[in-house]
Amino acid sequence: MTTPRPAILLFRNDLRLSDHPALTVAAAGGKPVICLYVNDPDAPDPIGRAQLWWLHHSLAALGRQIADLSGQLVLRAGKTRDVLGDVIRATGADAVHWSRRYTPNAIAADTALKAHLNDRGIHVESHAGRYLFEPWQIATKAGTPFRVFTPFWRSCLAQLDAAPAPLPAPDASFMRDLPSETLEGWGGLPTRPNWAAGFGSLWTPGEAGAMARLDSFLDKRAQGYAQGRDFPAATNVSNLSPHLQMGEITPRQILASLRRAEVLGDVGQRDGAKFLAEVGWRDFSAYLLYHNPTLPLEEFQPKFAPFPWRDDAKDLTAWQRGQTGYPIVDAGMRELLQTGTMHNRVRMIVASFLIKHLRINWRAGLSWFHDTLLDADVASNAASWQWVAGCGADAAPYFRIFNPITQATKFDPDGTYIRQWVPEIAALPDKYLGAPWKAPSAVLQAAHVTLGMTYPHPIVDHARARTAALAAFEGLSASAENVAIGDG
Ligand SMILES: Cc1cc2nc3c(=O)[nH]c(=O)nc-3n(C[C@H](O)[C@H](O)[C@H](O)COP(=O)(O)OP(=O)(O)OC[C@H]3O[C@@H](n4cnc5c(N)ncnc54)[C@H](O)[C@@H]3O)c2cc1C
Repeated sequence: MTTPRPAILLFRNDLRLSDHPALTVAAAGGKPVICLYVNDPDAPDPIGRAQLWWLHHSLAALGRQIADLSGQLVLRAGKTRDVLGDVIRATGADAVHWSRRYTPNAIAADTALKAHLNDRGIHVESHAGRYLFEPWQIATKAGTPFRVFTPFWRSCLAQLDAAPAPLPAPDASFMRDLPSETLEGWGGLPTRPNWAAGFGSLWTPGEAGAMARLDSFLDKRAQGYAQGRDFPAATNVSNLSPHLQMGEITPRQILASLRRAEVLGDVGQRDGAKFLAEVGWRDFSAYLLYHNPTLPLEEFQPKFAPFPWRDDAKDLTAWQRGQTGYPIVDAGMRELLQTGTMHNRVRMIVASFLIKHLRINWRAGLSWFHDTLLDADVASNAASWQWVAGCGADAAPYFRIFNPITQATKFDPDGTYIRQWVPEIAALPDKYLGAPWKAPSAVLQAAHVTLGMTYPHPIVDHARARTAALAAFEGLSASAENVAIGDG
């Protein structure tokens, strides 16, 4: 009996072995599997610096997992098509499998790669796995894409129970002893300065870390999620987003574990439904991007495009560094720099502050998040920034301007979150933590706070900034109406 020719599993943002349809099909029929990761300088959607840290550790974890199964994760740098050509020539592989990617850049790259390989007689198959549903599976009765989350999600829920269960890791026969580079040689980790020094104690990249995170969330922290998820000092959120982003865990695995936890009574119906709906927002963001490929670049609602943005490098830097003088904003921006993440409630507050208080283009915020978030995702990042700006699909109305003072009082009532990230004002009484400039000078003195020295004065006045933002947005509506009248 002849040994079948090997198949290549081209890993990208799917760094796991279980519930991996591409791997399962590649290994079917006893075909030897070559596990390949290519560090491609021309990769579509280059990732940011924080995510490079995650990628390094996630690849290391995957490499160990495959080595434990007597295989090898082959690491190669170069253009994907050239590396594949080399590996195919060296091994006689006749098939390439990969998990589908959904951004416009990645779709274009993968379509071209598939045609190139097919022309050379190589079988290429792309597979699902990243989302609950493929973006073309969900549509309105008229067959058009949804633009609003609630009916989109209702349609998903109606089809959820018929969805296939997650796949176990296949019993694959992996190839080994192929030429490979080292992760260290790729230089993905920051050195001088090592701004990621704090990440290692908080995160465990890799499939095992993702599963452990999910289990501990469902065991302990999911109870009370529906309410607790809004409070940045509470521990009710899952912190699964960087794992999901790198494909170390799938939404179907999350769904299956959630259903088990609900049956066991570990997670209540309300908390479970809310958590699943948030996973649904991830699907919805990818769905929006798939059907609206310019989402990261252009306003989803074109009437917002002529907004008179301010170009102010000093204010942008103050926002990025957490030096705006608004403690809840500064806490979030510092949490981001020190941990690679930021709580969702605070992401909304800081994004609203940049767009509406500072009137700085949402694309500047999007690109800072892209570089600094461990979970940076082209679709979720773009959809969320447009949501806050009011120009997205199903977005918050433009006149909803988060008040950073009342948001702090409401969602960080005892100041735990602000005190953790803005320690220089920690000794202030709770009532002044959201707005230190309102504290009498004796109170500031007693707390060792000197505004302008130990902590900044607010860079904008809230009430004036709000009025200016509303005027700018209303100016847009007026000019849109004038265009409409003129057109008529
Ligand atoms: C301005 C802004 C930018 C954002 N950029 C990103 C991004 O680049 N990548 C990213 O994954 N999320 C982004 N989000 C969404 C959200 O803040 C994070 O997904 C969430 O904070 C991750 O924490 P968690 O895993 O503990 O979430 P949980 O509350 O435990 O939710 C579970 C999962 O659901 C998904 N999810 C939750 N909320 C959202 C949401 N609003 N939109 C899309 N998916 C969601 C995530 O995959 C998350 O891991 C952004 C939100 C805002 C306001």
